[in-house]
Amino acid sequence: MKQKLKIAIQKSGRLNEDSIRLLKECGIGFSNGLNKLKAEAQNFPLEVFFLRDDDIPQYVEDGVADIGIVGENIVAETDKKIKVVERLGFGKCRLSIAVPKGMKYKGLSDLEGKRIATTYSIILSRFLKKNKINAELHEISGSVEIAPGIGLADAICDLVSSGSTLFMNGLKEAEVIMRSEAVMVANKNLGKEQDAILEKLLFRIQAVKQAKNNKYILLNAPNKNLEAICKILPGMKSPTILPLAEKGWSSVHSVLNEDDFWEIIEKLKAKGAQGILVVPIEKMIL
Ligand code: ATP
Ligand code: MG
Repeated sequence: MKQKLKIAIQKSGRLNEDSIRLLKECGIGFSNGLNKLKAEAQNFPLEVFFLRDDDIPQYVEDGVADIGIVGENIVAETDKKIKVVERLGFGKCRLSIAVPKGMKYKGLSDLEGKRIATTYSIILSRFLKKNKINAELHEISGSVEIAPGIGLADAICDLVSSGSTLFMNGLKEAEVIMRSEAVMVANKNLGKEQDAILEKLLFRIQAVKQAKNNKYILLNAPNKNLEAICKILPGMKSPTILPLAEKGWSSVHSVLNEDDFWEIIEKLKAKGAQGILVVPIEKMIL
């Protein structure tokens, strides 16, 4: 029988949808019924396990799953012998210490002797030790943000993205301990066949990631400015130039990076570019 690569993704929660979307964008289809624990991809040698995110590193270390998608925060907290093979660009958040709004907070030394509630006791104790702060850790398994309000702790250490949960609970962010995003993790001793399938999958993921960072651009340009316009547009190799039916004009096609997008558009307009169209790219193979 042909070998399959086993991937563990979050069953439900913040990473579930984006993990499934990423696989679908890689052209990998599978059914994901609500109560399913397992699914087989139809057109790729992949078997998908739906698990709680906290359990994924252990399963990958043990080889029950070959690879997995989890937050870097979970990778750091569980401290398993696995390797991170790709950053995935979603599930971005930070692990922060927050204190009550009314507390005067000037720096880490204000945490000396305080009680801090968290579900991230490994990362937090490592951080406090490194900074030589003696604080009392209260490990709880959820609803950390209410701990100061009910008198369980003086501060918390939890994941933050917008900060609205902190705000609603009368807290303010005091220190960022780590920044996190979803990553692909892998077992350290993958077999040869599994490794080859992983390579294939990573190739597709990189094409999807590249495409997200880039846009396809088409514009009309007066021929006299073509040279200047081509200098502004780097493209993958160089821009494509096609003559327009109207004399003296050309159509220019190229690829633009999202980061310097607006700056380039302004420069193009200044050189007489017209009818600029910008379209998303689905896949990009370099
Ligand atoms: P599970 O039931 O799988 O254990 P969970 O409740 O522990 O789920 P979620 O809240 O769904 O986990 O978060 C999963 C991951 O999403 C986090 O570990 C983190 O990497 C990422 N994440 C991104 N933004 C946030 C945020 N604002 N709060 C919490 N997690 C976030
Ligand atoms: Mg969890």
